Amino acid sequence: MNDTTVSRKTFDEVMVPVFAPAPFVPDRGEGSRVWDTEGRDYIDFAGGIAVTALGHAHPALLRVLHEQAARLWHIGNGYTNAPVLRLAKQLAALTFADRAFFANSGAEANEAALKLARRVAFDRHGAQKAEIVSFTQSFHGRTFFTVSVGGQPKYSEGFGPRPEGIVHLPYNDIAAARRAIGAQTCAVIVEPVQGEGGVIPADPAFLRALREACDAHGALLIFDEVQTGVGRTGHFYAYQDTGVTPDILTTAKALGNGFPIGAMLTTEAIAAHFSVGVHGTTYGGNPLGAAIASKVVELVSDPALLAGVRERGERIRAKLAQLNARFDVIGEVRGKGLLIGAQLNARHAGRAKDFHTAAANRGVMMLIAGPDVLRFAPSLIIPEADLDEGFARLAQAFEDVCGRAPGASR
Ligand code: PLP
Repeated sequence: MNDTTVSRKTFDEVMVPVFAPAPFVPDRGEGSRVWDTEGRDYIDFAGGIAVTALGHAHPALLRVLHEQAARLWHIGNGYTNAPVLRLAKQLAALTFADRAFFANSGAEANEAALKLARRVAFDRHGAQKAEIVSFTQSFHGRTFFTVSVGGQPKYSEGFGPRPEGIVHLPYNDIAAARRAIGAQTCAVIVEPVQGEGGVIPADPAFLRALREACDAHGALLIFDEVQTGVGRTGHFYAYQDTGVTPDILTTAKALGNGFPIGAMLTTEAIAAHFSVGVHGTTYGGNPLGAAIASKVVELVSDPALLAGVRERGERIRAKLAQLNARFDVIGEVRGKGLLIGAQLNARHAGRAKDFHTAAANRGVMMLIAGPDVLRFAPSLIIPEADLDEGFARLAQAFEDVCGRAPGASR
C-alpha cells in the first residue's frame, strides 16, 4: 500500500544527508523488476549495488526467511546456532578456508580481516610488522580503519588523525608492489576487480606477484571479495579463476541477497590468532541472516547458475557494443561476469551521472563507478527478456543524452 505520509522530499527533511537518492522511491520488487510508489516499473541493472544476486523476492529465500523468522531470529553469540554452523561448513567446502567469522557488512568483514592480520603479525613477528599495503582507488568500507585503508582519500579526510601504518600503491603495478612489500609489511589487501574504483580487473600476474611478495616477507594476502564474491564474476569467488589463493577473504553484499551479512574466511592456522574475546559483534552470525545466506550459497554455487552468469555477461557486452555502434559513447568495456563497467569515451568524460539519470527516467536502474564509468551489476539470474527490455530502454536513454544523430554529443 502506498504510504502518502512520506515522499522523497521527506528524505531531505529527516535523514542525515550522506546520500542523494533518486527522485523516485522504490516500493516493491520481483525478480529483476522494481516498482516505485507511483507504480512506475524499472528494470534493475543495479542489483542494490551488486547485492540482490537472486533478484527481488526470490521464492526460496522468502520461504527460508519466513521459516527461520518464526523459529529463531536472534540469540546472541553466547550461543551458537544451526544455520550459522551450516553456512560456515558450506563456505569452507567451497573455498580454501577452514574457518569463518560472521559480521553484518563488508566494512565489518574487512575490519575483522585487517585486525586479524595485524594480530597475526604482532604474535609472529612483533609490533614493528604492522604496515598494511593497499591500492589507490580501492574501496573497503566506511569504518574509520577500512576507509583509511581504502585508496580514495576524499572518503577518509576531515575526520582527524588516521590510523597509522597504511600505504597505497598503484593498482596492477607489479614493480611498485615488489619494491614496497617488505619485512615491515603485515598484509596486502586487494580487490580482484576494483568495483567502486571503476570496475578495473586485477591482472592475474599482478595477483601472483602479490602472493609471491607476501610469501617472501611473511605477510598475509587479503582478497576483498565483498563486491566480486558469491557468483558475481561467474565463479563463486573471483580468486578461484586467478590461480592465486589468499590467506583471508572477505565477503558480504550478495551473501545475504540484501539481508545484511558479511563474513571473513581464513585458514585454521591464521584463525587461531583470534582467541575468545579478541573480536566480536552482537548481530554477526545471527540465525536469520545465516539461514538466508545458507540458501543463497546453495543456489549460487550451482555450476549451471555460474555458467549463466558468464553467458549473461557476454550478452550485456554484445548489447553494449550494439548501443555503442549507434551512439559512440563508450571507450572500453571492463569487468568479469556480471560486474561490468563501460568507460565513457573522451567526448563524454564526466557524464556518467547524466546517463544514469536518463536511464532512470526511461525505467532502468543502473550504477555508475565514478564520473566516467557506467556500471552494471544485475541479478545473476536476470531473465533474458528483462535484459533485452532494459537495453531497449537504455537505447532511449542514450538518445535522450546524445540526441538522435549517431555519435552526436550535446
Ligand atoms: N569492499 C568492497 C570491495 C565494496 O565494494 C564495498 C561496498 O561497496 C565494501 C567493501 C563495503 O561494504 P559495506 O557497504 O557492506 O560495508
